[in-house]
Amino acid sequence: MSEIKTNIEKTLDNAEKLNGELNSFLSIEREYAMKRAEEVEKDADEKPLCGVAIALKDNICTKDLQTTCGSYILNNYKAHYNATATERLNKAGAVIIGKTNMDEFAMGSSNESSAFGAVKNPWDLERVPGGSSGGSAVAVASGVVRAALGSETGGSVRQPASLCGIVGLKPTYGRISRFGLVAFASSLDQIGIFGATTKDAADVLGVIAGRDKNDSTTADVAVPNYAETLDNDIKGRKIGVPRALFGEGLDTEVRAAVEKSIENYRSLGAEIVDVELPYANYGIAVYYIIATAEASSNLARFDGVRYGFRAEGSHELREMYRKTREEGFGAEVKRRIMLGTYVLSSGYYDAYYSKAQKVRALVKRDYEKAFEKCDAILTPTAPTTAFKIGEKSDDPLAMYLSDIYTVSANLAGIPGISVPCGLSTEGLPIGTQLVGNFWSEDVLLNLANVYEKAFPLGAKPKIFAG
Ligand code: GLN
Repeated sequence: MSEIKTNIEKTLDNAEKLNGELNSFLSIEREYAMKRAEEVEKDADEKPLCGVAIALKDNICTKDLQTTCGSYILNNYKAHYNATATERLNKAGAVIIGKTNMDEFAMGSSNESSAFGAVKNPWDLERVPGGSSGGSAVAVASGVVRAALGSETGGSVRQPASLCGIVGLKPTYGRISRFGLVAFASSLDQIGIFGATTKDAADVLGVIAGRDKNDSTTADVAVPNYAETLDNDIKGRKIGVPRALFGEGLDTEVRAAVEKSIENYRSLGAEIVDVELPYANYGIAVYYIIATAEASSNLARFDGVRYGFRAEGSHELREMYRKTREEGFGAEVKRRIMLGTYVLSSGYYDAYYSKAQKVRALVKRDYEKAFEKCDAILTPTAPTTAFKIGEKSDDPLAMYLSDIYTVSANLAGIPGISVPCGLSTEGLPIGTQLVGNFWSEDVLLNLANVYEKAFPLGAKPKIFAG
């Protein structure tokens, strides 16, 4: 058997072998992937991702495979079309091997809200991998695939990347088409990429980025050749550090590791400057108003008529809608729909939704000012390392605070990347985050790649495909 088929077979074996413990895949598509491997192998054209195995979060539409969004309401649902990202991966010769577990409708920071069970962190099976793209993060962290797609609304790629010790990139809003990404909060959503290394993520970005006529929010901005600038000297690059954000709620070990990453960047020739992001502290409040408002509207389409699951035993249409949504959605999704409906309701709209939109503009302005002084801004990615399964599930507010360092980039629409920067005394990974100006993914990937080569993590999780 030739090389591509052998590799894909091995990848599928690993995915199956580890899934019992990790639960990172909701579907592993052996037959489909082997057929694709054969097609790719026969193709004489040189393709950028020829034979590369990729896992997709289960909210990215795939015509031939299920797309459940981790929800019972879409149990066994198959889309009628491919997402643009899916389509572009296929065209580039990649082989999609399965769909990954996620928090239901991407709402969560721990992957515990999936209707199909929690995902385990391969560094410590008692801990969460982060979320909501935890399945994709674990598929990469456990060595099954070198790259996977996730989605970001408020940190769902960068935060699990940090908790799992891999690279996670959220591109600029409009860089990657959202066509075929099941909508959570449309003004914030963006497909993101996990890579075993920065180069893996860069290779995938180069293929899926760019204008798409099916998504009017994609921009007509040239997609650079990311591989070309990955190894550029970072001497003289200015990295801004918002010291005020290194205080309350930040775990001391995370703080120490991130401080160390600042020193490491300095030693690589970067210039460290102070910046201020005075409105960053409002990020969580603003995010949970805007994201829930948009979710309450986007999720209205799941009514038992158009997609997926329909509850039995109703005698009348409205009762069928109600029962379907009651039985089909989990607790966190219902909480978000109720919060979102509340902030949009007449009488409260101005006090919450309109005000949140205004503060969102101020958060964005903070960044505009800061980027006059620097090329990227460095903070922790997440305030803690991976927490224990169950630790925050009864306390939504504590869970929401996991996103404190990530949500602002989504509110502003700018790109961000998480790079592994150390291990805690318990041996859990820690990530440092770089956020950049619009369309500066090349700068972030360069900074991340140079860091990762100079200061590799040098450890692998307990559970790792051999
Ligand atoms: N954890 C955040 C939330 O629960 C972000 C989710 C995301 O980025 N999809 O909404």
